[in-house]
Amino acid sequence: MNLLDLPPALWTETFQEKGEAAYRGRQVAHWLFKRLITEPAAMTNIPASTRSLLESDLSLAIPSLESAHQSVDGTRKLALRLSDGPVIESVLIPRKDRMTLCLSTQAGCGIGCRFCRTAAMGLIRNLTPSEILGQWVQAMRHLSATPGGMKEGPLIDHIVFMGMGEPLANLDALVPAIRSLTHPDGIGLSPRRITVSTSGLVPKMALLGEANLGIQLAVSLCAPDDLLRREIMPVGRIYSIAEILEACRRFPLRNRERVTFEYVLLRGKNDAPEQARALGRLLAPFRSKVNLIPFNPFPGSPFERPEEERVRSFADILSGFHITATVRKSMGPDVLAACGQLARDRGPETITTSHRETVS
Ligand code: SF4
Repeated sequence: MNLLDLPPALWTETFQEKGEAAYRGRQVAHWLFKRLITEPAAMTNIPASTRSLLESDLSLAIPSLESAHQSVDGTRKLALRLSDGPVIESVLIPRKDRMTLCLSTQAGCGIGCRFCRTAAMGLIRNLTPSEILGQWVQAMRHLSATPGGMKEGPLIDHIVFMGMGEPLANLDALVPAIRSLTHPDGIGLSPRRITVSTSGLVPKMALLGEANLGIQLAVSLCAPDDLLRREIMPVGRIYSIAEILEACRRFPLRNRERVTFEYVLLRGKNDAPEQARALGRLLAPFRSKVNLIPFNPFPGSPFERPEEERVRSFADILSGFHITATVRKSMGPDVLAACGQLARDRGPETITTSHRETVS
């Protein structure tokens, strides 16, 4: 059993069931979440019996860091290998006052959005909670080991589930992973700093709401009408925009929190002024904000990036409807780490870190 597949609240119980003192669970959690240690031999204050338990019945196995590619803007794309072979990717996105980690929830993805490079991989498999949390551990080790990576306070203060995969298609692993991210004995992040992005799987949106995690929700809309949306995002054939908006309305948010709608702007496809007005009319009655993402091209992609002027005018039209519209700056496009660009490949520059360098 991998301990990281269990919420930290169950770790003490698990150690007790195995005949160990309950507090060993908190000690091991401290080694993992605060010191980033997964090797039992390095946990110096636990007895041999607990260490051998961690080497036999319980484990803290995580995906191995295969490579890291750094963009000129500081964005870092990490490639991690799963124990059965597939490679997944996570992205560290530095901003002036924050460090965001973008996590994957599946190896590949079965949703098939036409603007997304991951879609071409198809779905390989769902990740486990330990494989989701393992991305955080490796990203933290990588930051700690990179010159200039150390700083006061938590290294990663925001999490977005916008990497490979549709998070809500893997709800069984997503929910326990979020509970570990937010639990005080786990990573202890505020749920308000965690955003889950979905292509609009309506029944799963309801289930995520029922889990009452206190997180933020983002929905990839990408078109103001169903006909166009179905063309860009095949999942639109299953769930209409009206159903998605209704699911958003029911999603539990605190006062003043709003759902974020993501809109990937594709030149000549969904970036026209009349489409901005249609989107404005659709979302004006709704508590929302819009994140405009000018398309990030990748080799073989069927779309082009719109001109800046077109993007600006799209945002201005939405503002005319009193909708907060922000244009997302592309981070890491030179290493294919920007939105929609994740897939198995190697970038131009490789930085590798090892756990030993990090913790010794
Ligand atoms: S955008 Fe997200 S849901 Fe759509 S294919 Fe890419 S990874 Fe899957």
